[in-house]
Amino acid sequence: MSKKLVFVINSGSSSLKFSLIDSKSYKRFLTGIVECLYLINTNISWKTKNISIKNFFLKSYSTHENALEFIINNIIKKKIDIFNDIISVGHRVVHGGKKIKSSVIINESIMDIIKKASCFAPLHNSVNLLGIKLLIKILPFLRKKNVAVFDTSFYQRLPEKAYLYGIPYIFYKKYGIRRYGAHGISHSYIMKKTAEIICKDIMSINIISCHLGNGASVSVIKNGICIDTSMGLTPLEGLVMGTRSGDIDPSFIFYLYENMNMEIKEIKNLLTKKSGILGLSEETSDFRFSEKKYFSNKKAKRAVDIFSYKLVKYISSYFFLIAKEIDALVFTGGIGQNSVLVRKLTVSQLSSLGFELSEKFNNENGFKNNFCISSKKSIPILVVSTDEEIEIAKETIRLIN
Ligand code: ADP
Repeated sequence: MSKKLVFVINSGSSSLKFSLIDSKSYKRFLTGIVECLYLINTNISWKTKNISIKNFFLKSYSTHENALEFIINNIIKKKIDIFNDIISVGHRVVHGGKKIKSSVIINESIMDIIKKASCFAPLHNSVNLLGIKLLIKILPFLRKKNVAVFDTSFYQRLPEKAYLYGIPYIFYKKYGIRRYGAHGISHSYIMKKTAEIICKDIMSINIISCHLGNGASVSVIKNGICIDTSMGLTPLEGLVMGTRSGDIDPSFIFYLYENMNMEIKEIKNLLTKKSGILGLSEETSDFRFSEKKYFSNKKAKRAVDIFSYKLVKYISSYFFLIAKEIDALVFTGGIGQNSVLVRKLTVSQLSSLGFELSEKFNNENGFKNNFCISSKKSIPILVVSTDEEIEIAKETIRLIN
């Protein structure tokens, strides 16, 4: 019997996740990840439903395009039976700009909007668009069945005080300059999954959700609505990230321009691709390196300490927006789900707010997808595996039906 599968593509800044998901049961038929894009050790791993796992090193410094071509030509197309069962394609798109407020079926004008919004998500929208164009070319019979699911949709109900900057209002009114947030698909999934885990209605859930990956952000959710988030006009604002600086004094830009004769392009490159963990560790953006070397290498320690300190500052300021109503502090993303050290460093600085780790539970990494890491007397602290692909698949099916 033929299956009905949704092909989901989720391009992060350093990774590309892909899945074939059954449109009825939402079980994964095939799932995989390309990691360390633009680094020396780009690799791909994937597994099928019967759990045969395959790993493969791609050429060093592979791009999103290289990765997508490999996935289509060497995995998907080789399984002709699967290829014919794909009924729709769901794409993660980071930024919908001013116009797009929810998921949409892709057509030429939507592609145009995504392209225009690239200025607000330079590391992401262009690769998201590349995926869309490639898939339309490869699967022309599904041309009208490609759906874009936007990270920015989750932030449509931010209060004005959270989304406006202290700049002349005309910039918002005329040019749409505001805080849009990012990682919304992940934070939305985390909110729903946490509600399920703690048996609470989504409409009354209050959490602080920390998505810590190569890109990193914190969102605070009150009664099922996101009321503030650390990323802003672009995914550059907020926490220290893999290669992104996060918050800085804008005067640094003037300094580079006026005193160091740097071009705007170079400054952009510096803040988006050479800063963050890479810039502080002076080694790599791969967090595993800094974590491993934390006790033996001063630069690695510095990077991890600053990453955690910044996170503490966001969590504590968001704590006061929901205070005693808080149901849980949640960690997710490649670092949030795996870094025992970051969770320990972060939570140890939040003890005065009522957060305390159970060392034993925090160390129980990798045994379960979702687990509690707090002590008995603490506000609940959870590690929840994010699943942006399921969120995208559900939205895709909702739209094409
Ligand atoms: P993105 O989707 O933004 O590309 P991910 O959520 O996949 O990123 O997270 C990638 C980050 O997670 C990388 O910095 C990687 O080093 C880090 N990471 C992955 N596994 C671990 C681990 N076991 N310990 C610490 N960091 C990890």
